[in-house]
Amino acid sequence: MLVVMQNHATQEQIDRVVETIREMGYEARPMPGETRTTVGLVGNDGRVDGSRIESLAGVAEVIHVSKPYKQVSREWKEANTVVTIAPGVSFGGQDIVIVAGPCSVESEEQIVTAAKQVRDAGASALRGGAFKPRSSPYSFQGLGKKGLEFLATARAETGLPVVTEALDEEGAHLVAEYADMLQIGARNMQNYSLLRAVGRIGKPVLLKRGMAATITDLLMSAEYILAEGNGQVVLCERGIRSFDNLTRNLFDLTAIPLVQRLSHLPIIGDPSHGTGLRDKVIPMARAAVAAGADGVIVEVHPNPDRALSDGGQSLYPDQFARLVAELRAITNAIGRSVSSGPTSNRQPSARGTAAKAGV
Ligand code: PEP
Ligand code: MN
Repeated sequence: MLVVMQNHATQEQIDRVVETIREMGYEARPMPGETRTTVGLVGNDGRVDGSRIESLAGVAEVIHVSKPYKQVSREWKEANTVVTIAPGVSFGGQDIVIVAGPCSVESEEQIVTAAKQVRDAGASALRGGAFKPRSSPYSFQGLGKKGLEFLATARAETGLPVVTEALDEEGAHLVAEYADMLQIGARNMQNYSLLRAVGRIGKPVLLKRGMAATITDLLMSAEYILAEGNGQVVLCERGIRSFDNLTRNLFDLTAIPLVQRLSHLPIIGDPSHGTGLRDKVIPMARAAVAAGADGVIVEVHPNPDRALSDGGQSLYPDQFARLVAELRAITNAIGRSVSSGPTSNRQPSARGTAAKAGV
């Protein structure tokens, strides 16, 4: 339930609404807006008596959120949420964010080389798994803590913020010590204890759609994270299972505008897992940005033929550089732009230099 305050409601009136909600045994989340404040009632079990709140001074209206997910919905919050993972790198604003890197961290040299290649090509964040959810227990499972350390080295050498996966609750705390954004993979989208854990940790989360999850399922999973008080969630369309075996997954482009209508959270596309085929990654990355995605996450490897995981869907660095140039052209056409990366990496512009020199 959402309590919308009148434009001129006083702080005292807002505090009274918050107190009343708490007295009723629920949690109150005041959300100051540009013109008026709304107060969310969290934990509605269907027994809330709205009339008690409606009659309080300063209340304009009480809205019953019709969707099963509440805090994630556009009804709850109209303005887009912007999730910042490093100064200058934000999802959900005007800029689209390109996250790139190998599927797995394989060695210090591999991840540092990949980080430099993707940064120089125009990526704003580095991806790479240290804990890998593999279909076979005999496949490479990732370097674990060592992999996280190598990611930290790559960040120190390139300035790129790091996005990496946490597989379980215990691992999430360790990953959070190194990552700028915690990835919850498709296989864990409905691991509710893990979702609650990353909600409590409070760092930005990249939540990938499960391979057999509906869009409502995805939004319900995001609700678990927001319900713990962490609103910094970016959703990711990464393809769903279909009957066609010519691709690894069916990249569901419609999910992008659908989610943007239903939710205020940013959504990005993962055309690498979405297609599973290197030559399909580029056209689908273009399509995701054209469809309005707030970014893409793309697998790029210094030597895909030698990759320990997902080599067949990883781009060669020069292919990735061409893709970034194409994404710039697409963003221009739709009134957006590609993020220039972390502010710490930006070269002072000619104008900035002149201004500093007092010219
Ligand atoms: C990955 O990003 O490497 C990954 C395993 O993704 P997903 O969870 O979407 O399969
Ligand atoms: Mn992968």
